[in-house]
Amino acid sequence: MIEARDLTKRYGDRTAVDRLTFTIRPGRVTGFLGPNGAGKSTTMRLVLGLDAPTAGTVTVAGRRYAELPAPLRSVGSLLDAKGVHGGRTAHQHLTGLAASNRIPRRRVAEVLDLTGLSEVAGRRVKGFSLGMGQRLGIAAALLGDPEVLILDEPVNGLDTEGIRWIRALLKSLAAQGRTVFLSSHLMSEMELTADHLIVIGRGRLLADTTVRDFIETNSRAHTLVRSPEPEKLRDLLQAKGATVRLDTRGGWRVDGLDAAAIGDLACDHGLAVHELTPARSSLEEVYTAMSQDAAEYRIPREAVR
Ligand code: ADP
Repeated sequence: MIEARDLTKRYGDRTAVDRLTFTIRPGRVTGFLGPNGAGKSTTMRLVLGLDAPTAGTVTVAGRRYAELPAPLRSVGSLLDAKGVHGGRTAHQHLTGLAASNRIPRRRVAEVLDLTGLSEVAGRRVKGFSLGMGQRLGIAAALLGDPEVLILDEPVNGLDTEGIRWIRALLKSLAAQGRTVFLSSHLMSEMELTADHLIVIGRGRLLADTTVRDFIETNSRAHTLVRSPEPEKLRDLLQAKGATVRLDTRGGWRVDGLDAAAIGDLACDHGLAVHELTPARSSLEEVYTAMSQDAAEYRIPREAVR
């Protein structure tokens, strides 16, 4: 378990992480979602003891990272995949890590196999593609067979196959009962990978909920409607108090009246309707609206200064 209590990090007068309180539980993939600059990497660095909090605490398995007896065996992390000496081979890199952390040598072959790198293990890391480098970073994170995994934007820059591979791997690690905590600024990615979501904006907690609840609570219902007489239909709908906007696909996007009411209204006025589709706003839209709210919240505070 990862537990943050009132975790706060300030850099000068900039608050990167603002009184965050959350618990990341085992057995599921928890997504850490927020726009760039929201404070995700800073939070992860605080969890890993790479930076000290200004206030509050964060623990892994009940202890601060620095107090863990064998950190690599408790927590595996992937923050920046480029932190590897390019002149070394993948095998040398992992063997060195294993030796300095008293991890049995046989784990090297296991993690190379798990990440599909066995065949390129003898090649120098500087010739690796981004995807291979990312796999090597994950191999290193898994080396100590840790119960907790922390990955910062692991799918950034990967091709579709690489993304699918990471997704499947993270799900299987969570299914084994491990704690998997990964960040992304992409809602679409979280929707496919995570079971639980922690959403932050401007360092503050915006949501801590299951992905399913997040969708149900936040995505508003609306109706897409198309008519050969669009203006007439729009005027009728607006006269009934509905909000009508042009949908990206061309028809009207209607809030405030359901599909049945729209159909009846059109029928009463002898208007043809060619499409009537109940829909929900996408998670991406919900999340964008949330992030914007968080950004707006900041404006008055800065204006005061
Ligand atoms: P994210 O990972 O969500 O993109 P970060 O944690 O990297 O966000 O950054 C959060 C905020 O803290 C940003 O405004 C960033 O500029 C600031 N920040 C991060 N690290 C430092 C640092 N070492 N010194 C000063 N400001 C920092």
